[in-house]
Amino acid sequence: MLLMRVCIVGAGFSGAIIARHLAQKGHEVVLLDERPHAGGNCHTERDAATGIMVHRYGPHIFHTADQRAWDYINQFGKFRPYVNRVKAISQGRVYTLPVNLLTINQFFGKTLSPKEARTFIESKADKSIKNPQNFEEQALSMIGPDLYRAFFHGYTCKQWGMEPTELPASILKRLPLRFNYDDNYFNHPYQGMPEDGYTAIIENILKHDRIEVRLGTSFEAVAEEFDHVFYTGPIDRYFGFRLGRLGYRTLDFERIEDEGDYQGTAVINYCDQSVPFTRISEHKHFAPWEADKFSRTVCFREYSRLAGEQDIPYYPIRQVHEKRMLESYIELARTEKKISFLGRLGTYRYLDMDVTISEALAACDRIDQLVAAGEAI
Ligand code: FAD
Repeated sequence: MLLMRVCIVGAGFSGAIIARHLAQKGHEVVLLDERPHAGGNCHTERDAATGIMVHRYGPHIFHTADQRAWDYINQFGKFRPYVNRVKAISQGRVYTLPVNLLTINQFFGKTLSPKEARTFIESKADKSIKNPQNFEEQALSMIGPDLYRAFFHGYTCKQWGMEPTELPASILKRLPLRFNYDDNYFNHPYQGMPEDGYTAIIENILKHDRIEVRLGTSFEAVAEEFDHVFYTGPIDRYFGFRLGRLGYRTLDFERIEDEGDYQGTAVINYCDQSVPFTRISEHKHFAPWEADKFSRTVCFREYSRLAGEQDIPYYPIRQVHEKRMLESYIELARTEKKISFLGRLGTYRYLDMDVTISEALAACDRIDQLVAAGEAI
């Protein structure tokens, strides 16, 4: 077998998994990340002032139905059981999300049974909308104007910086509406939080004699030749933005430090448009097994805005013109030799961690097939 010297750009899950696989197959791997730490956007670290494990780029909860992704990640760190239960503040009152029987009963001041609630919500839904064309129409056709205004309209405007009428209907199809008291945000059979944080897991994936990790190093600054590059950074950046910039939302985090318990739970969404931030995350509640150890607490107040050139790209916006631009970048990528684009930035898609892991493992399978067939990667 021909052994290669490969470069991997990005120390998130995508880059780390490919790096490990290639190293195990005998290839020499140089993995770069321009940040001073591994972990990509899932990076966790102990807060210097309080010792609390913080999710530096926003809260990350691992959840999956994918057995392979779950088995894979569990090889590299211990997971503690964790159930994501989100609260929402709307018009001065606190509710539970996703919209469930408690939310419906509290919001409308009722004591409906599951069947009664279903009939009640159906009576609120806008039946004149037969074929929803956008997020707002989808919401109105499912839950009617009251719940839509209270929980979705303002939050969506803040999160995406545009009216829900400008967003695709498909976004809301994924949001669950429950007619029981289940307030577990996710439906997946596996859900958890890594005991030592995500960065420790990614560092463990990268622990291999044939992987050289260079942090604080951007790909653009490296002049060496490699047999192949796996690039998990932004695809438009790789091509020097020559076809334009793909749009992203970025996040600003305002740190709050306090004594004891600030909000009593990990995440509270703020649904009203009059409140400028989207949510507050209180990090010690992501690690309930150690929360009592800390007398102080750290929260991040999260603001969303359009990413400027120097900002961290978080959520791909993916409007019609951006999807077209992405297709042109993909065409361009096909003409390049010895490079593969992966991950959330390399493919310009929102990917949960389990999907990221699953796609990286599938890429490893594909590499093996090509190598076995004697073809170029
Ligand atoms: P990244 O983690 O972004 O890694 C890419 C790395 O490449 C970065 O470290 C970057 O510094 C580096 N890089 C880029 N360009 C260059 C370059 N030119 N040179 C050197 N280095 C470069 N998923 C869940 O499953 N559950 C959650 O609760 C969840 N919450 C999220 C919350 C937020 C706010 C966001 C934005 C995402 C969330 N996700 C969540 C998704 C999760 O963050 C992604 O699945 C994951 O980060 C994707 O990993 P990746 O390796 O593809 O990319």
